[in-house]
Amino acid sequence: MRLRVSGQIYTCLRRRYTTVTGSAAQVQQPLNYVNGQRDQPQGRDQASRFDLINPATGEVLRQVQNSGVEEVDGAIRAAQQALPSWSRQSGFDRGQVLRKAAQLIRERCEELARTEVLDTGKPIWEARYDIQGCADTIDYYGGLAAAITGEFTQLAGGSFAYTIREALGVVGAIGAWNYPFQMAAWKSSPALACGNTVVFKPSPFTPLTAVMLGEIYREAGLLDGGYNVIQGEGETGQLLCRHPGVAKMSFTGSVPTGSRIMEACAQDIKYVTLELGGKSPLIIFSDADIDNAVKGAMLANFSNQGQVCSNGTRVFVQKDVAQQFLEKLVERTRKMKIGDPNAEDTTVGATISSSQADKVMAYVEGAKKEGATVVYGGERVSVSDPWLAGGHYLSPCILADCHDDMTVVREEVFGSVMSVLTFDTEEEVLRRANDTEFGLAGGVFTRDLSRAHRVAAGMEAGSLYVNNYNIYPVGVPFGGYKKSGIGRENGRDTLDYYSQIKSVYVEMNDVDCPY
Ligand code: NAD
Repeated sequence: MRLRVSGQIYTCLRRRYTTVTGSAAQVQQPLNYVNGQRDQPQGRDQASRFDLINPATGEVLRQVQNSGVEEVDGAIRAAQQALPSWSRQSGFDRGQVLRKAAQLIRERCEELARTEVLDTGKPIWEARYDIQGCADTIDYYGGLAAAITGEFTQLAGGSFAYTIREALGVVGAIGAWNYPFQMAAWKSSPALACGNTVVFKPSPFTPLTAVMLGEIYREAGLLDGGYNVIQGEGETGQLLCRHPGVAKMSFTGSVPTGSRIMEACAQDIKYVTLELGGKSPLIIFSDADIDNAVKGAMLANFSNQGQVCSNGTRVFVQKDVAQQFLEKLVERTRKMKIGDPNAEDTTVGATISSSQADKVMAYVEGAKKEGATVVYGGERVSVSDPWLAGGHYLSPCILADCHDDMTVVREEVFGSVMSVLTFDTEEEVLRRANDTEFGLAGGVFTRDLSRAHRVAAGMEAGSLYVNNYNIYPVGVPFGGYKKSGIGRENGRDTLDYYSQIKSVYVEMNDVDCPY
């Protein structure tokens, strides 16, 4: 793939290369998906457009029109029309559609994964893993759909009551850019299982795979209007939140946007679930298997270019093993391969955008000024391939000599920046670990079973890991405490957030009235 090859071979290689990397000519225009059809947003009332950029190359692939009032309204009307028929189907029938969709996703994993790489710049093997995980989630909710039932309560005198678990209505959903297909799947599949219909707005950075999911649902038997996609930026998101036809908003993104969504939903008292940011602690005790803890810390910080909400970016290491931990960590991190996201051996792909790369670098520079020592990485990397020259590639960063008050230790970076802190006692580290406004996740590495459970119980966070990190098996609820959010995804409890309960009291005797 070097310029030394002859012109003809060079062109041929370039063609093959751009097939996997994605060039403007090969990318479909990101469209809305409404009523079972791809639809070009007109945005008559909203003239603005945004660029779809391939993070791996920096190339502008397409210009995308923001959806305006008409498009948002049209998508919600389509969802409203589909609602009565979908919500009246049996849970089993709805489940069959979801299970078929899961099967189609598995069959099309490669195409979906390549498209996800094009949108996000993440390594291809991570994208495949994400897509397979989404198939599992949709399968899981397909299986649960028939088990969504009410309860019967026997009352005095033969009277009784029962509950009906009903759909909420049209669910509006908004996703972030780090796991685009996952967000569409994690939100739509429990919503559909409960009999709701869905209007999803992907992040403007990653508009492609949400529409592909719509086509898969349709092929699996979902009626038109059951799942719709609107493209756009924050303003389009606000139109969705504020629309009176939406019963519930399900959001994944940053804390400030989560607040705005909650505010918008307050007007009509809409249901809201929020999956927001984090600054999670990972605690490594000196009795831990240090090699294992190193792997855990890397999983907790360096997957997906560090752009993971649950990342354990505050790594607390007990003082007597801190040096050993750092040495082993640097040695292993050094082996990570930065470059072409479509290459099978790449472990660090491209950062999503130039502004995100600038933000990450600013945190590294700020940390240095506040006294942290960069023991590895934290630099922009020029990858050798000329096609990737416009992408933003950053080396994973390990910071030592950190303290609790540093900006990089308190704020979410959303990039591969690990802050290593040291501690003496369990009591001390638990207090420091919980000293944050966030509460998404946390982890502990130890061989002491009692300590593991004590620390897991003591951490103020929604998802805890003992001797591992950032694993999301389907069926295990995921979500945050404190400012990290409201609600749970990926588990059985999620169904509670996409349904409402009606109680029916049935009197079997004459009415006993004191008046
Ligand atoms: P963001 O909040 O900037 O944007 C998220 C989505 O909200 C996008 O689709 C965006 O267009 C939309 N949006 C922006 N302003 C809006 C408004 N005023 N009204 C309605 N919609 C609006 O977040 P991001 O930069 O895309 O994602 C990164 C953030 O997401 C990080 O904070 C990360 O921790 C968080 N995140 C959380 C989880 C989780 O499950 N807890 C998962 C992934 C990402």
